[in-house]
Amino acid sequence: MSGVRGAATTSRADWQRPTPRRVRAIRDRLREIYGIPVAPSHDDPLAELVLTVLSQSTNDRNRDVAYLRLRERFSSWAAVRDAALSEVEEAIRPGGISKVKSRRIQEILQALPEDLDLSWMRDAPVQESRDFLCALPGVGRKTAACVLLFAYGLPDIPVDTHVSRVGTRLGLFRPGAPFEELHDDLLAMTPVGQEHEIHINLLRHGRRTCASQRPSCQECGLSRLCHWSAPESDAEGGRVGSR
Ligand code: SF4
Repeated sequence: MSGVRGAATTSRADWQRPTPRRVRAIRDRLREIYGIPVAPSHDDPLAELVLTVLSQSTNDRNRDVAYLRLRERFSSWAAVRDAALSEVEEAIRPGGISKVKSRRIQEILQALPEDLDLSWMRDAPVQESRDFLCALPGVGRKTAACVLLFAYGLPDIPVDTHVSRVGTRLGLFRPGAPFEELHDDLLAMTPVGQEHEIHINLLRHGRRTCASQRPSCQECGLSRLCHWSAPESDAEGGRVGSR
């Protein structure tokens, strides 16, 4: 059985993708618990790129402090690009590993066109924008998806460590699948227009209930749908109301 507790990896040949009915059941249960998150697109892809770099290995609060200090210190993204590395490093120090992050931020800005204009992505094919972003230094599928989804509300879904863990335990992902596959699979199974909801609610569940080391399965509202927690005979979808 794919995705049962303890299965470290499942081969592609043995993997059975979740049915649309099961995906809807999980979405609906998450929606009952967490609601439908609302976050208007902010139209600032560069800010999202930098925020994603700053979010590595720190919490949201420290990331935001580092970001605000960076914006206060420099008048524009071009000024960040052209500044001495030590100045950028000093500005983002509260976000941790500032030496690495400052270099990465400048590498990304220097790799962009001179005008730093990414607004063309709003109307470009998603795949074209994704390919462009993933060609930037240190930018992978998760960061690209953050930019496309949060800046412009485009159909892409970031898969971070929480989404990956919860999705795998719930049987949405093939155990042991690489992150590229996780992104492709989650996007394929998500109803168009619900990318933000699915990402945020899986993330919330990972942070609040389905922790990495000690998940609170006894209090979990998805336990009857969960391969990782429930016996096999209880785990296949349909028990929770689906559309
Ligand atoms: S039942 Fe346990 S492992 Fe499954 S989603 Fe809930 S907390 Fe996570």
